[in-house]
Amino acid sequence: MPTADSNLLGTLRQYWGYDALRPLQGDAIACALDSRDSVVVLPTGGGKSLCFQVPALMRDGIAIVVSPLISLMKDQVDALKANGVRAEAIHSGLTLAEKQAVDRALRSGEVKLLYVSPERLVQPAFIEYVRGLGVSFVAIDEAHCISHWGHDFRPEYRQLRTLRDAFPEVALHAFTATATPQVRDDIVSELTLRDPKVIVGSFDRPNLTYRVLQRGSLIDQVDEIISNHSGESGLVYCISRKNVEDLCAKLQVKGYRALGYHAGMGDEVRKRNQEAFSRDEANIIVATVAFGMGIDKSNVRYVIHAGLPKSIEHYQQETGRAGRDGLESECWLVYSNADFMLWKNILEKEESDAAPIALAKLEDMLQFARRMQCRHKSILAYFGETYAKPRCGACDVCLDVSEADEHSISIARTIIDCARQIGDYAGPKFTMQVLAGSREDRVLSSRAAQLSSYGALQDQDEAAIRAWIDQLVDQEYLVKRGQYNVLADGPRLTEDPKLSGVRFSAVVKRAPRERERERKLAAKPASPVDLKLFEKLRALRRSIADERSVPAFVILSDVSLNDMAAKKPVTLAALRQVHGIGERKAEDFGAQFIQVIQEFCEARDIEGDTQVALPTKPARRSKQDMRDAAAKLFAARLSVEEVCEQLQRAPSTVGEYLAEYIEAANISDPEPWAGIEILERVRFAVNEGGDGRLKSIFDALNGDASYIQIRVCLACIRNGG
Ligand code: ADP
Ligand code: ZN
Repeated sequence: MPTADSNLLGTLRQYWGYDALRPLQGDAIACALDSRDSVVVLPTGGGKSLCFQVPALMRDGIAIVVSPLISLMKDQVDALKANGVRAEAIHSGLTLAEKQAVDRALRSGEVKLLYVSPERLVQPAFIEYVRGLGVSFVAIDEAHCISHWGHDFRPEYRQLRTLRDAFPEVALHAFTATATPQVRDDIVSELTLRDPKVIVGSFDRPNLTYRVLQRGSLIDQVDEIISNHSGESGLVYCISRKNVEDLCAKLQVKGYRALGYHAGMGDEVRKRNQEAFSRDEANIIVATVAFGMGIDKSNVRYVIHAGLPKSIEHYQQETGRAGRDGLESECWLVYSNADFMLWKNILEKEESDAAPIALAKLEDMLQFARRMQCRHKSILAYFGETYAKPRCGACDVCLDVSEADEHSISIARTIIDCARQIGDYAGPKFTMQVLAGSREDRVLSSRAAQLSSYGALQDQDEAAIRAWIDQLVDQEYLVKRGQYNVLADGPRLTEDPKLSGVRFSAVVKRAPRERERERKLAAKPASPVDLKLFEKLRALRRSIADERSVPAFVILSDVSLNDMAAKKPVTLAALRQVHGIGERKAEDFGAQFIQVIQEFCEARDIEGDTQVALPTKPARRSKQDMRDAAAKLFAARLSVEEVCEQLQRAPSTVGEYLAEYIEAANISDPEPWAGIEILERVRFAVNEGGDGRLKSIFDALNGDASYIQIRVCLACIRNGG
């Protein structure tokens, strides 16, 4: 007799081609097997579907799955059928003939899962019908729709209150990706769950990199982000329908295959656009919050928010649509304070009881954007979870951390001094021009051209200066006054006159190149040969999907194609070892894939069936490798900036490498990294009897030398320079 566990893993392997359950899936499955009510809260991509699909196969009778959208039902049923699982859906889109076919299938006793809408499941006649078929349990997907506290309340879900009475003897299992305790409590009370087991997974999505930008020229920023993802799928969220249309049109002009999606478009158009995206005919969907729930696409590689979302729940939910397949993906938030004001106005006009809560949520969202705290940590904290790691390595704050600090403080000081010197004329743009040393008339002809701040940041980009000014306003070190937005000292400046809390986020920044490469490697096979094969396999997947009129991800995930391109199976037995290939898929189209692999291998005279598994994450370049690479570049006399550029490392890190290099190579001449004059002044400052701290030397030099230059000089002095 097989044990329950071996039975379970056998089912998983046979139908899904997976080797193991993810954490908590086992607990959730146990509830469904033992008829214990449950609430399962896992993030998007956490693998909730498996929690009810696997036990449905293992139990007698039919599991009823409540789903809010026809498109969701269809994708899940298609995916189950592709795995050889008998599943059906009953919805308003079926023809009479289709309905009759489903009825016959249900009566045959072979169907294990039946997907229905909430409104259908509460109809007495329907209840009678399914009770007669024998129900194993009821799973309620997207269960947060039952709660007013959720971000997607649906009245038809409220009707599910009667479910318990309709099916007194079967267990109810609720599934959601919404993590707030209120929603969870609402689900339990609305469904009158009996002593439910509440299973809550971690909400961290380690494969997502979060980045926050202040909005400048939106189209340029979005273009830059998307150009790092050529050919990949992505979502761009906008606040209003008009924003959607504008941005979508601009992206199309730039040659992107982008389509719009918002509630003001007709159902037909929306459906068509969504399908085009599902089938990879369009790469980009530009949408309002209306877009999302009906989408199961697992290979969305980036999500851009072109405006501030209304709440962290929305943000988490929408960014969660990236990287459901577990591969590295990016989430960019491009926001401006104006978004906050816009939402605030809308909320204040609504005058509903919920407005104060909505406003508080909006404020939390703005805080999230402004605060330079690890994004993973901030999101988890919002949902009441603690993040254990000191740095995530996957957010702008942690990745660009070293660029903040001293550099930010000195720039902030320069900007604030300048605004004070200009006084009543210090509008943001004018201040920026003065700092940049603009030759424009309105600057040259004013007394601002005589100020000591004039040109103080002349080696910086104007857009960068402008972004820094905005960030100082955001962080309340400066405020804008009156109708001309004159910059004045902000409240935070009184608390923190030394500016020690100032943090600047990157202005417009490409994903650091090394990470970018890693991401690409993770998303696609490691070697060029595998990549070529991957493309061929992808084309085959496309044609099989088209033949069956289903989205490509229903046939096989990118993860499976990766694994296949690496293992190159040329026998069915070997193919079954590939991730995500269950028996049905092996039988159905295994031969087609094997043929492509065989031809590919023969043409190149390479062996198939390579047993080497693709590493899930390519090894990072080690610190030591980085040091060695930096030393070579410094030996070639490259500047700090150039080395930063080449290695994609922050100046402070490269500064450290430089100091080490000078030490190790016993160099005593600071050129080209610092001038002799600076060296002499550093020597003087040290001899002057200060405390020897970098900060004191920096102050003694009045900011004429950077920290890096000071470190270089100190190292040279130690070497006898
Ligand atoms: P959710 O419904 O929670 O958003 P899904 O059920 O769609 O998540 O699962 C996300 C992805 O993870 C799917 O591609 C699914 O096949 C895959 N997956 C789920 N569980 C496992 C597992 N145990 N092993 C491998 N892949 C899994
Ligand atoms: Zn972080």
